[in-house]
Amino acid sequence: WFAPLDAADPTSPIILTIEDLSERRSADRVRVDFVANASHELRTPLASLAGFIETLRGPARDDPAARERFLGIMQQQAERMSRLVDDLLSLSRIEMKAHLRPPDPVDLRSVVNHVVEALEPLARDLGVRIETDVPSEDMVVVGDRDELIQVFGNLIENAIKYGQGGGRAVVTMATQAGAPSVSVRDFGPGIPAEYIPRLTERFYRVDLDASRRHRGTGLGLAIVKHILARHQARLSIQSVFGEGATFTVTFPPGVNPG
Ligand code: ADP
Repeated sequence: WFAPLDAADPTSPIILTIEDLSERRSADRVRVDFVANASHELRTPLASLAGFIETLRGPARDDPAARERFLGIMQQQAERMSRLVDDLLSLSRIEMKAHLRPPDPVDLRSVVNHVVEALEPLARDLGVRIETDVPSEDMVVVGDRDELIQVFGNLIENAIKYGQGGGRAVVTMATQAGAPSVSVRDFGPGIPAEYIPRLTERFYRVDLDASRRHRGTGLGLAIVKHILARHQARLSIQSVFGEGATFTVTFPPGVNPG
């Protein structure tokens, strides 16, 4: 893109603007893929709802037992759509705040305790024991409490759901060189190494059936990644396939003396 400073003067200096569009192009590509994936995810339950409506108005019109069963499935599909929309909105809200530093000092211990308490019933239902190793002194980070609840809620819920077979989930908190970290470990099937880098992509699921069974949307870890970026925190994922997985969040060193 170039233009003379003064269009009427043939000897006018020229302004030459060079812009690297590759980053914008790839962002556009990601956006297009995202919209396509989101539409596809919403269309599946929608198609199922439409199909059942048709059946209920036609062949199943006078079959009360079938009606009851179909209404049950329709309710599940509607709930699935509603979870997807909630997660999509959550993601877009967080993206909008991406460049704003979170405001408050937050004690990670209270976040973890809150999340563990809230997830106890699910853990009990699935036969998983949650073990926590919470230090006696504060672990303060600068953050957004609700968002951090979402992060650890997601990681611990995943450990319970996908690590169910291992029977326990362990939450460990530590501070190393002033940097607070929280790790969530499970003893389930783990994740094959080649899938690990893709886990935080939107809608990426290792086992689609397991995710569906556990009412997953495939957006949980994408939300986690975005929240952590805003907190300048890092997520690392370790897994030996067959022996479980460990998700560790490390915050920048800061508020805490050590
Ligand atoms: P979902 O809504 O499907 O749970 P997430 O973004 O939270 O979506 O996780 C993406 C996928 O990563 C899950 O569908 C699952 O296949 C895999 N995953 C996440 N956590 C674990 C874990 N602790 N053990 C094994 N697989 C996991």
